[in-house]
Amino acid sequence: MADEPVKKILLIDDSSQVNDHMRRMVRSFKREQWELEWADTYAEGLKKLLTGKYGVCLLDYRLDEGRDGLQLIREANAAECTTPVIFLTADPDIDEAALSAGAMDFLVKAGFTATDLERSIRYARRLSAMMNQLRQQATRDKLTGLINRREFDRLLDEEWQRSTRFKHGFSLVIIDIDFFKKVNDTYGHQAGDAVLQHVSSLLAGQVRSIDRIARYGGEEFAVVMVETDRAHARDTIDRLRALLADTPCLIPEKNLTIPVTMSAGVATAPEDAETLQQLIETADAALYTAKKSGRNRVVTAKARASKDPWGGTPPAPAAAAGPAT
Ligand code: GH3
Ligand code: MG
Ligand code: MG
Repeated sequence: MADEPVKKILLIDDSSQVNDHMRRMVRSFKREQWELEWADTYAEGLKKLLTGKYGVCLLDYRLDEGRDGLQLIREANAAECTTPVIFLTADPDIDEAALSAGAMDFLVKAGFTATDLERSIRYARRLSAMMNQLRQQATRDKLTGLINRREFDRLLDEEWQRSTRFKHGFSLVIIDIDFFKKVNDTYGHQAGDAVLQHVSSLLAGQVRSIDRIARYGGEEFAVVMVETDRAHARDTIDRLRALLADTPCLIPEKNLTIPVTMSAGVATAPEDAETLQQLIETADAALYTAKKSGRNRVVTAKARASKDPWGGTPPAPAAAAGPAT
């Protein structure tokens, strides 16, 4: 363990006295060596926390400019920060709120010793590691590492709410591998799995990190493309389609080169649907058209002739507008 880098604690607290006090405590730790870094404002604290380089964060309740630590935890969570946070408060009644916001533990200021702090850090890190593992298992597809259907449905719903509230559009893409059953039948199920992994990593590598990509079903994938209109979504997905068609799946152990193509359906909010269910059905219908019209293509739903897409005229029946290329 001697050559392990020294782990870092981030202290977010507006008081230099607290900083001095904590620094002394950390220096007297018995089991593990830690280094303390101090941020004295909300903004600096959040920025440092989001770097993800700290083993644990000690967070004060009252911060500068009337903002508090609970708000900071929520912001960090929204940014998918996984660093465990221990809440420091002078008010023991704040414990419930701190834990609900996502703190792993809390300590009442002036009432804990260095030994208590060391224990709390160990506990918070252990609990956080366990929770991250559970979250991973609950939200990710095991074979491909992409987000799973349940998590995607949640994110899609969130994006729909955001889109209607802030009136910005987004596109939903449903992708399906062509003749995948034949891959399984010809080369076996394991080769089929390798093809799924091949397609996943190719898709994930090309889609902007802000766009969410999921394994939607057996050999189906779905992408939410935030603030992306029909034309941009279609062009991006069509580039992916072309790339995949040019990149066969190689399985060197079996000396196999398996050509793979995909079909995709694109639906765009707000113009293609008035409800989320309609948007999904429209993307599905576009995918169906892509399959029927020959596969290895991207089809978008037909644009609705509406001056005010947020207005409220009923959507046209799901229709398709020819291959993207
Ligand atoms: P189409 O071009 O119309 O989409 O034809 P297809 O053969 O791809 O479509 P179909 O829906 O008939 O086949 C999907 C196949 O995907 C059937 C199923 O056995 C296979 N599949 C689903 N999940 C997995 C998986 O995790 N691994 C493997 N190897 N195969 C899977
Ligand atoms: Mg298929
Ligand atoms: Mg399918």
